[in-house]
Amino acid sequence: MRPTGRLHLGNLVGALQNWVDLQDRYDSYHFVADWHMLTTDYANTAELQSNIQEMVTDWLAAGLDPAKCVFFQQSRLLEHAELHLIFSMITPLGWLERVPSYKEQLENIRDRDIHTYGFLGYPVLQAADILMYKADFVPVGEDQVPHVELTREIGRRFNNAYGEVFPEPRALLTHAPRLPGTDGRKMSKSYGNAIFLSDPPDVVSKKVAGMMTDPARKRRWDPGDPDVCPVFDHHKIFSTKDVIDRVNPECRTAEIGCVDCKKLMAEALNRKLAPIQERRRIYEKDPGQVWQILEEGTARARQEAEKTMAEVRQAVGLVKSQDAGATSKGAGAKVQESAVRS
Ligand code: SF4
Repeated sequence: MRPTGRLHLGNLVGALQNWVDLQDRYDSYHFVADWHMLTTDYANTAELQSNIQEMVTDWLAAGLDPAKCVFFQQSRLLEHAELHLIFSMITPLGWLERVPSYKEQLENIRDRDIHTYGFLGYPVLQAADILMYKADFVPVGEDQVPHVELTREIGRRFNNAYGEVFPEPRALLTHAPRLPGTDGRKMSKSYGNAIFLSDPPDVVSKKVAGMMTDPARKRRWDPGDPDVCPVFDHHKIFSTKDVIDRVNPECRTAEIGCVDCKKLMAEALNRKLAPIQERRRIYEKDPGQVWQILEEGTARARQEAEKTMAEVRQAVGLVKSQDAGATSKGAGAKVQESAVRS
């Protein structure tokens, strides 16, 4: 996850809740993608450290447990840069230019110049991040599937060239329910429409009170349509079945007004956020603990990264083989073979 600072409800239902669920079933790694941040925000790093701290505090608050999973800071593990460099040697430009989000972002991001080598190559860095830990699965949404596919292709190309080192990771598709922001667009910090996990109850209630509703319901006595109302999208995720079953018909017959409906939603939201904020307060009081946890996770990740890179360097032929007979059959011939295939 890129360190963007405090996390919001969209991050919670789109990623964090799923991570918390996975930590009990998988050997999970999560990282602060600070180098990825630089691919688009290289000119704006003044708040990077505080953004990392806020984000990791929210991970812990949401229930991610350092005893059950590893979380680390990408830029503290130079092995990621090394693997990225090696992968960049074997990744054809065409593969990167075809990544759907590349063109999309070039068109959409107008306030920064992202026509850079680093931005074009960020899926290669992603491949290094994933393959470093020989991941079997990558928990992603539908839009990230092409990136996982590219990772598989890069790993396959490496294996063809230098011998089997990497398994092929698969996308672990996660269902992320639609959660609009207060203005009805996708919830995003940059749109200014987010409800943050750390917003106190009165701020949550105020934001909810100002939320967009069914635009056709102009007066109290007009019937509404919950299916087009962002408030109801939140009810479906955060409210009890009883509340949902009440609001749904009562909105359509104008028995309930938007003010009361929003109050119910804010109550549900604040109930959901209460334990998260309780945990958050522990880490807010002691930010040193947050950095310490990140440091320990980084050390654990480093053990795996070092193991993988020792294998990679040997496979590529960058270091003398410990078992010359076994590996000298080698890299060179296979690189040729792979080059022909490309
Ligand atoms: S009553 Fe609730 S669901 Fe219906 S339009 Fe108003 S806020 Fe939306």
